[in-house]
Amino acid sequence: MTQNNDTIAAVATPQGSGGLGVVRISGKDAFLVADKVFRAKNGKKLSEIPGYTALFGKVFRNDEPLDEAVALVFRAPKSYTGEDVVELSVHGGNYLVREALRAVLNAGARVAFGGEFTRRAYENGKMDLMEAEAVMNLISADGEKARRAALSLHEGAASAEVQKIRSALLTAAAGLAVFSDYPDDELPEFSEETLMGTLNEAENGLSALLKNYDAGKVLREGVDTVIAGRPNVGKSTLMNLLSGCRRSIVTAIAGTTRDVVEDTVRLGDITLRLSDTAGLRNTPDEIERLGVEISREKIQSATLLLAVFDLSRPADEEDLALLNECRHRPSVVIYNKSDLTPEFDTSLGDGLYSITVCAEDGGSLALFEKAVATVCGTEHLSGSETLLCSERQHDCCRRAMDYVKEAKRLLKSGYTLDTVGVCLDDAINELLSLTGERVQNAVVDEVFRKFCVGK
Ligand code: GDP
Repeated sequence: MTQNNDTIAAVATPQGSGGLGVVRISGKDAFLVADKVFRAKNGKKLSEIPGYTALFGKVFRNDEPLDEAVALVFRAPKSYTGEDVVELSVHGGNYLVREALRAVLNAGARVAFGGEFTRRAYENGKMDLMEAEAVMNLISADGEKARRAALSLHEGAASAEVQKIRSALLTAAAGLAVFSDYPDDELPEFSEETLMGTLNEAENGLSALLKNYDAGKVLREGVDTVIAGRPNVGKSTLMNLLSGCRRSIVTAIAGTTRDVVEDTVRLGDITLRLSDTAGLRNTPDEIERLGVEISREKIQSATLLLAVFDLSRPADEEDLALLNECRHRPSVVIYNKSDLTPEFDTSLGDGLYSITVCAEDGGSLALFEKAVATVCGTEHLSGSETLLCSERQHDCCRRAMDYVKEAKRLLKSGYTLDTVGVCLDDAINELLSLTGERVQNAVVDEVFRKFCVGK
């Protein structure tokens, strides 16, 4: 266990007024510090009571009572950080909580950096790096599937998978090393077939971990989405339908939306960062032309394209160009104005994911929800799958898989077993850095840099 010499403190609840505000203290002097600012009604000291118990009393600032408080005690190693921890709950006013923290800092604690509590938990072996990374995802999850995925990662689902793969590779590497040292001896536990079997299993395990990464990322981070189409096809009506309010100006006059109108909406389990763009057409109007240019740029940079077409008008060149664009990125083709006589040849969009709607009647949200989930690959996810939660985890896993594949190739091509062994070692190292068991400090710093203060 890493011994941190200083005792840290931070406000663990968000800024703003609320029922409660919590000041969290962790470190070897947590009880000493807390006893200087907290006096229990029954006269007991926090340093005297067992872990998982609470005392009611008051927090003092310069010997003057500041507020009533409940102090909750956790004794090392049975705490979030693995150290002695006190959580002081006071009334949740900004000023009160800040002053309670100030009293704690004056009593000898230092203010914690963002993520420092979780970093200590990681350093004290309470969780590995993958489980620690999931903490922030759990906090920021704003949908059921994202929450479930973060909780399962935090509880070690992916770590267990990684450890299984790593221990199989370690056994294989050890067998290889013995075989290389004593090639003439009969070693029943080692053969090229069993080695290949282990490599195949490792590759399957890693590819299962990598499989739903993109869909999981959509659940966690949302999608940059652009609504595009010719003027008057119903883009702004669609934007308003998805936003649930009149966000864009809807008129029958082509070219009304000249700028990009943006909004963030929640569609089922997915957050869409929506941009309603100027209608695509060639125009002599200078301002509108600039708007169209921005639209084209937005289409190129968006992750998801909602391409809108007016069913009541035959397709023109802009429609054909947009349909072509849809073939190069995740897109939903939206045939709008289904209430009017159809003139648009929908076979032009064959092979693309399409829905037919009447955006004006407002009743098509379920269709949009299903379409977006299908195109983004989240529809089949329940949240119970093992989902990696960061680019770092994904990169480690992918590199480990590349080494395993390379080991297989070398083995098949008849290279020496020593050479295969080097690839195995590299794959094992990647898995060790994935869980944080062998990782550079700079990487750990980067992981915790993204955390909020108090966590
Ligand atoms: P935009 O230029 O693509 O943003 O199109 P708007 O959303 O401003 O809509 C252009 C016109 O089409 C407006 O008069 C809307 O009321 C009309 N409109 C939009 N959706 C529908 C629909 O589903 N059916 C019918 N009949 N008209 C619609």
